[in-house]
Amino acid sequence: MRIVLVGPPGAGKGTQAAFLAKNLSIPHISTGDLFRANISQGTELGVRAKAFMDAGELVPDEITIGMAKDRMEQPDAAGGFLLDGFPRNVAQAEALDEMLTGAGMKLDAVLDLEVEEDEVVKRIAGRRICRRDSAHVFHVIYAAPKVEGVCDKCEGELYQRDDDSEATVRNRLEVYHTQTEPIIDYYKSQGLLVTISALGEVHEITKRAMDALKK
Ligand code: AMP
Repeated sequence: MRIVLVGPPGAGKGTQAAFLAKNLSIPHISTGDLFRANISQGTELGVRAKAFMDAGELVPDEITIGMAKDRMEQPDAAGGFLLDGFPRNVAQAEALDEMLTGAGMKLDAVLDLEVEEDEVVKRIAGRRICRRDSAHVFHVIYAAPKVEGVCDKCEGELYQRDDDSEATVRNRLEVYHTQTEPIIDYYKSQGLLVTISALGEVHEITKRAMDALKK
């Protein structure tokens, strides 16, 4: 299956993507994680992306689209993938369509995680990520690790992302409304959109998502 996950920052895309990708046996491709990996490795791409990320802005399409395309062309993604955080604007959605059409492929579904804005701000403020594996996500209140600051799964150090500060979160939400939300209509008109509520326990949301995808 080829799936796109959309939803505002803090909707739980990363958390759900990790579970869904495992259930569906497809790779989880997160452009945010790819940028963060480039930043920690000190690559030129990482250096170029960091300033945009720290400001809560989108990294320019000419950097993002090529990086996403390279990742989707890796052998493990030949049978399908779950995209998390890409596309984030209509130009990226069009580039993805073009790339898939060129390869004789198409998307199967676009899963939209719906959540209110107040909830999003609460979730992001308490979010903590594992330095070793950014698919291990915790929350100081909703999903607290057994030992503060330590990942339950691999004992990596937990940290707060630089772009999870309140001012940056507000800008990321603004960017989501103005630039990313238009892709919801874009996919709705293609009949691909599946919307579910992202409220509730993590495993309930995963089940809701799996049920919706089966339909
Ligand atoms: P995420 O981990 O998905 O929340 O992404 C973190 C940050 O990485 C975003 O706020 C953007 O600055 C950047 N980013 C991730 N994916 C994209 C994308 N598809 N287009 C542009 N910027 C992106």
